[in-house]
Amino acid sequence: MFTLIKGGTLYGPEKMGDRDILIAGRTIARVSEHIDLPEQFETRVISASGKVVTPGMIDLHVHLLGGGGEGGPRTRTPEITLSKITRAGVTTVVGCLGTDDVSRRPETLLAKAMQLEEEGISTYIYCGSYQFPLATITGCVRKDIALIPKVIGVGEIAVSDHRSSQPSFEELCRVAAEARVGGMLGGKAGLVHLHMGSGKGMLDPIMRIVKETEIPIGQFLPTHLTRTLSLLEQSIQFARMGGNIDFTVKGQELQFPLTTARALQMALNGGVSIEQITLSSDSNGSMPVYNEKGEIIKLAVGDIQYLHSECKELVKGGFPLDQVLKMVTANPAKRTGIDRWKGSIEEGKDADLLILDKDLEIETVIAKGQMMVHQKKILIKGTFEE
Ligand SMILES: [Zn+2]
Repeated sequence: MFTLIKGGTLYGPEKMGDRDILIAGRTIARVSEHIDLPEQFETRVISASGKVVTPGMIDLHVHLLGGGGEGGPRTRTPEITLSKITRAGVTTVVGCLGTDDVSRRPETLLAKAMQLEEEGISTYIYCGSYQFPLATITGCVRKDIALIPKVIGVGEIAVSDHRSSQPSFEELCRVAAEARVGGMLGGKAGLVHLHMGSGKGMLDPIMRIVKETEIPIGQFLPTHLTRTLSLLEQSIQFARMGGNIDFTVKGQELQFPLTTARALQMALNGGVSIEQITLSSDSNGSMPVYNEKGEIIKLAVGDIQYLHSECKELVKGGFPLDQVLKMVTANPAKRTGIDRWKGSIEEGKDADLLILDKDLEIETVIAKGQMMVHQKKILIKGTFEE
């Protein structure tokens, strides 16, 4: 079965002009100014003229199984469903565990990722959670990353947070080394994804690893960096040393004081390249707000839809569309080591595509060549979704 998207303005994520896209099976077969197939090829044609076509978004921080529980069992947050992801324009997710690795395990996270993959999108996971000793599937971070196809790194490991296991410098060095070697053996990113808390240590332990060991700075990806102004300023310094940084979108409405737009502007003004920045949703994770005594005063849940709504707001606020798109397509693909198949509109890559209307609202979502959402209607639902 062939699908032909005609006449859209392509941002792949760079602006490519008006092009047709031919999808064969799950792959982008051809991108060209004008494509017509002979009649004997059964082809579904989608008109995209006057519309914008982009790669499907990649969200590298999603609590697929839910998270939370920091305020007791009733504060455990729910699992995500297929249509929630596709409706949000996301076609690839990387799942993680959070504070709770007691009742949620990496084996369950892997099974959930396998379910979503079968249902139609692309999924990866991190082994580990906030805590040490790290929750793994094989008993070893190195083995998990090297041998389990969906495991692309370890995380989110909590640093400078009252919920972390207060890892020592040596423990952090060891896990980074394990992830690095696992990544080499498995042909993966071996990413060390770090949950940054509001503790005063901030990124100090990571800066120290970079200064005192041979582990390259690119191995790390800290997130939740808009939590405090001083953390953001230090993360800009970290990026100027060559590190990559991730902002949790819409945090300000839930928990964080700094808007993504302001953080982004500060990073760019500070000499950070857009290529070093990714955005993620923290979807289905709990976002508890604590007072200075460490008591929960408010509880919210991250939503994967914020990724798209944040992008729209950034564009409205004057950031160029291609730059905004990079942070949710090409950059996360590179960071997670899946850019051979994902993150851009190129021949030979997976047909993960979005068609947006002139207001950048999501009209059509195609994942691995399959139409998941069309004309804003969900065509494919998760196995047990109503
Ligand atoms: Zn986190």
